[in-house]
Amino acid sequence: MIIDLRSDTVTKPTPGMMQAIMEAQTGDDVYKEDPTVNTLEKRCTELFGMEAALFFPTGTMANQAAIKLHTQPGEQLICDKWAHVYNYEGGGVSFNSGVSCKLVDGHRGMITAAQVVDSINPPDFYHSPLTSLVCIENTTNKGGGACYDMTELKKIKAVCDEHGLGIHLDGARLMNALVAKNEDPKQYGQLFDTISICFSKGLGTPLGTVLVGKKDIMKNAIRVRKVLGGGMRQIGYMAAAGLYALDHHVERLAEDHKKAKELAAVLAAQTYVDRVEPTETNIVIFYLSDRISEEKFMADLQQLSIKISSMGQGKLRMVTHLDYTQEMHQRAMNVLAAY
Ligand SMILES: *Cc1c(COP(=O)(O)O)cnc(C)c1O
Repeated sequence: MIIDLRSDTVTKPTPGMMQAIMEAQTGDDVYKEDPTVNTLEKRCTELFGMEAALFFPTGTMANQAAIKLHTQPGEQLICDKWAHVYNYEGGGVSFNSGVSCKLVDGHRGMITAAQVVDSINPPDFYHSPLTSLVCIENTTNKGGGACYDMTELKKIKAVCDEHGLGIHLDGARLMNALVAKNEDPKQYGQLFDTISICFSKGLGTPLGTVLVGKKDIMKNAIRVRKVLGGGMRQIGYMAAAGLYALDHHVERLAEDHKKAKELAAVLAAQTYVDRVEPTETNIVIFYLSDRISEEKFMADLQQLSIKISSMGQGKLRMVTHLDYTQEMHQRAMNVLAAY
């Protein structure tokens, strides 16, 4: 039994999801003739109370398309120093959009409205890049699955409105935040111009991210997706997995959160662990004491059939998911307690 806690992307479709995939009606989605993709896009539009949606192969491509839709080359976006769009999208912000990032020294990947204000370049000061977009991540990945407070998000939105900035939400794990904080997706639809929602993370599909947004911003989205190589044909098979996930895999995220909290509690009690970040959703981030190296710890766990990941700067990460069973959970906790 391999216990893979490296990421919530390692899951395979459940039998029920597999059946939904097999039974999907499909068509050529580049011609917008795939009924299942159209249904998924419509469903996401309604879920968030937004005007338009488009299905992408990956979260990276959806974020990159959103950034392209919001900016012109030479402009600057504001994001946290740990943001996925800055750290884990291959430099796509500059490659695809010719945009630079003003990095904010936030808390656990989350930034405040006051920090956004401080990061805006004065628009008439033509020596600096023009600030045009704020990118928020919820939950934060490198920040250990931390969730924003709705009040702070509203303040950030007010700052964006006041300064004429676009606001994009990297919601790769937004469903985890909605479940953890018992929030309504429509609250997010009201605050953001565009939101990306991944189906291949906690929701457990093989691929797919939906970008939802306002009509005027989204009108060019299909062209940008084409340029990025993301036009797909009979992709309704994967949209069917997404629809299945919306019906069956959202509420159960609470189980992943519970297991993550239990793993965090076990780790916090071990002398080889220096500190564990607060665990709100399905990501556990912890640091080892000086006595043991990350490499040795990870290799030892691997020997015991447990895989975890390193995020650099001493951060180790475990992510709970659909394929992490109660039996695996019990064994992982025993191994960590006995190590
Ligand atoms: C996983 C992830 C993405 C998208 O990644 P893909 O692998 O391209 O689907 C975007 N943002 C965050 C915060 C993520 O965790």
